[in-house]
Amino acid sequence: MAEEKVHVRFSPSPTGSLHIGGARTALYNWLFARHEGGTLSLRIEDTDQTRSEDRFVDDIKESLEWLGIDWDSGPIFQSRRLMIYDRLADMLIEGGKAYWSDEEKGRAVRFKMPDSEMEFNDIIRGPIKFDGSLIEDFVIRKADGYPTYNFACTVDDIETGITHVIRGDDHITNTPKQIAICEALGVIRPRFAHLPMILGEDGGRLSKRYGATSVKEYRELGYLPEALTNFIALLGWAPGDDREMVSREEMIKCFELERVGKTSARFNNTKLDWMNSLYIRQLPTDDLLRRLMPFLRKAGVEPEKLPEGWLQKVVELHIERFKTLADFYVLTSFLFTDEIEYDPKAVEKHLKKDGVPDLLQEVHAALSKVEGFDTDSLEKCLRGVVEGRGIGFGKLAQPLRVAVTGKTVSAGLFETMELLGREKTLSRISHCLNEFCRAGSV
Ligand code: GLU
Repeated sequence: MAEEKVHVRFSPSPTGSLHIGGARTALYNWLFARHEGGTLSLRIEDTDQTRSEDRFVDDIKESLEWLGIDWDSGPIFQSRRLMIYDRLADMLIEGGKAYWSDEEKGRAVRFKMPDSEMEFNDIIRGPIKFDGSLIEDFVIRKADGYPTYNFACTVDDIETGITHVIRGDDHITNTPKQIAICEALGVIRPRFAHLPMILGEDGGRLSKRYGATSVKEYRELGYLPEALTNFIALLGWAPGDDREMVSREEMIKCFELERVGKTSARFNNTKLDWMNSLYIRQLPTDDLLRRLMPFLRKAGVEPEKLPEGWLQKVVELHIERFKTLADFYVLTSFLFTDEIEYDPKAVEKHLKKDGVPDLLQEVHAALSKVEGFDTDSLEKCLRGVVEGRGIGFGKLAQPLRVAVTGKTVSAGLFETMELLGREKTLSRISHCLNEFCRAGSV
């Protein structure tokens, strides 16, 4: 007999943005489908009329697309399939497997939960047993005419030929109900794989307290979809060795549900930052520049007004220093703006010091005259100044760095000054001489 073709679904409820947990469920379904040569369907579980919103449907679709998770069919909206659920609820009533009952909000249909023991073999967790007698008859069709989650989900899984249900383990307690519905309808149940929880860094629930939780927020913070996907994939799964940087193709190649761990995974922001910075470094420069554009524009930069090739040099000089696309501007804004903010501590420590004003005066004079304003000529010029004074280069480097960047840490000083240009460099040194190094402190 031919192997059954894999067909899985990602079925979010549009009651919020796509968060990390949902993205992982989507990713594992996608990886499994691609690995098996099967298909993935997107299903919107919008039967909770009070909490479902169109804007969340858009958010979910956009976030999936951004992550590179594509689906082969759908989206299917449960709210447009009420007739199907009605028909099957009627069938269950006729077969004596469900009944009308008077509830607080009106007449609803309840499913008769069998009292028997039931078992299923979870692909990740192994055999799981339930005692049906401990589960009460549950509502499948609400008084408002909409199906409940357990019913709509099961009907759709059956109707659309889902072979594997891959979802978070918060749904484990729903599984016996869904299996019971399959049995009552006389159909073969799908196989189940319940993914372990994702915990926050502190071991508690993943929550906003520790930063972003939705995919959209990570996107806005400047994480690359490649990095976030790689990171999320490793929340519960490993390719079978110690590798952490795993390309999309490799993930598809080695993804197996059997290799998903049973224990909860921890979200680690430091690791995500590390991974993101490595992915940033691997991008071809023109691709990286393209991705930086929206962040620069948002910060008020007009890239088309920058000198040809300048931005590329700024990026290349800082490539090892920024962890996210948004970080780039935070790190380099002093190169873009006329005025900069000075770190008061740095000013105190490096500029308000005996001898510094005099030294900066000399540097100002030397830099006004130096021919060319490139790394080599700057280095020669400044080395000349320190040699003339018989002092180490360090004595000049820190005050000058603070004067031109406002901070104590920056990329190479000569390269930075070259990118800043003569005019800005000189005006910043003058500004510092006037503001921070008044006569008296000399
Ligand atoms: N709508 C459910 C959720 O968002 C999906 C559960 C399932 O995959 O069966 O959690």
